[in-house]
Amino acid sequence: MALLVQKFGGTSVGDPDRIRAVADHIVRTRDAGDDVVVVVSAMGRTTDDLLRLAHDVSTAPAARELDMLLTAGERISISLLCMAILDRGLPAVSFTGSQAGIVTDTSHGKAKIVDVRADRLRDALAAGSVAVVAGFQGVSTSRDITTLGRGGSDTTAVALAAVLGAGACEIYTDVSGVFTADPRLVPEARRLAHLSFDEMLEMSATGGRVLALRSVEFARNYGVPLHVRSSFTWEPGTWVQKEGVMEQAIISGVTHDESEAKVTIEQVPDRPGIAATVFRALADDGVNVDMIVQNVSSAGHTDISFTVPHDELARTLHVMETVVKETDAAGFSHDPHIGRVSLVGAGMKTNPGVAAKMFEILAGENVNIEMISTSSIRISCVVNEDDVPRAVAALHKAFELDREQA
Ligand code: ASP
Ligand code: MG
Repeated sequence: MALLVQKFGGTSVGDPDRIRAVADHIVRTRDAGDDVVVVVSAMGRTTDDLLRLAHDVSTAPAARELDMLLTAGERISISLLCMAILDRGLPAVSFTGSQAGIVTDTSHGKAKIVDVRADRLRDALAAGSVAVVAGFQGVSTSRDITTLGRGGSDTTAVALAAVLGAGACEIYTDVSGVFTADPRLVPEARRLAHLSFDEMLEMSATGGRVLALRSVEFARNYGVPLHVRSSFTWEPGTWVQKEGVMEQAIISGVTHDESEAKVTIEQVPDRPGIAATVFRALADDGVNVDMIVQNVSSAGHTDISFTVPHDELARTLHVMETVVKETDAAGFSHDPHIGRVSLVGAGMKTNPGVAAKMFEILAGENVNIEMISTSSIRISCVVNEDDVPRAVAALHKAFELDREQA
């Protein structure tokens, strides 16, 4: 008998029918002999609705109260799901994040888990119950209710799986797994049977929307195998686990992301300390800088370009006004209409020529590359946002991702 953590996202528990279907599945899992800890998200768009309400009554909702409000969404789903499980004759107990022992730091809206004291969950399991835990929430070291950031239920599930020593963490969602590309852009995209943690991390970080980035980091650090699968068809989905368990494909997927804007600081003096000044100022303002490219210097001056999330652009431009003066730069410009296209694959490490082929394919589509960045298993190009769909489709085809890899 193994222990499984099963996480159900918002659409999986979106209405009473869905909640009953999830309860049936939990009963099936128990009948097959496994213990189950369940983590649920808020029903459907509840979190968005609550956020809207908050902004309706306040121009800048207080962080502590906002967390108190948002955690109500998950409370609704845990209690309803337990009622449905109990109706099927199986004992079940609901727990808020706080009751489940999820202890976090004090940063409201993006709290980090610092400890999990899961005794109550262990007791519930020992008593033969299904434990149903509210995702996305915890209690801070100063005893306030906190949330873990959007998509945080994935992180709750992985943290519990790690602490309880679960055999796997199943993430149930409205798609049947992780695909070689977004099927809305590439109808031929295939579901991947396996991915390594590192590949999944790169995909989540570059626009793959299936798993929250922090949950994958957690899973990798604690070696928790993830199984991403559909709560609509219940078919086997994508396993995310340690490298070496499977053969490495050269390329596993193409991702895209249109959530960033590009900022360029022009003609800054090329001397030590300039980059430090620019990025220290941004960091102190809490701006999340992603890609950074610095040009070759000519006549003692250089351009530095970087990308930031759209919703941090206004703040960034504000910081740049001062930075330009401090550094004696000629000025700065920005372009919100960019997109990033990335190729991810663990086999890239040992196969030369992937970058060259990627650039040739983009050239063949007449796509101009504005910035390039790489890791050992990823190549990303920033392009005009209008070119993104064409670039993704062309790369998917040229790297034969529509075919089963050898
Ligand atoms: N309900 C939260 C959200 O919508 C957490 C989650 O779904 O994982 O972000
Ligand atoms: Mg979610």
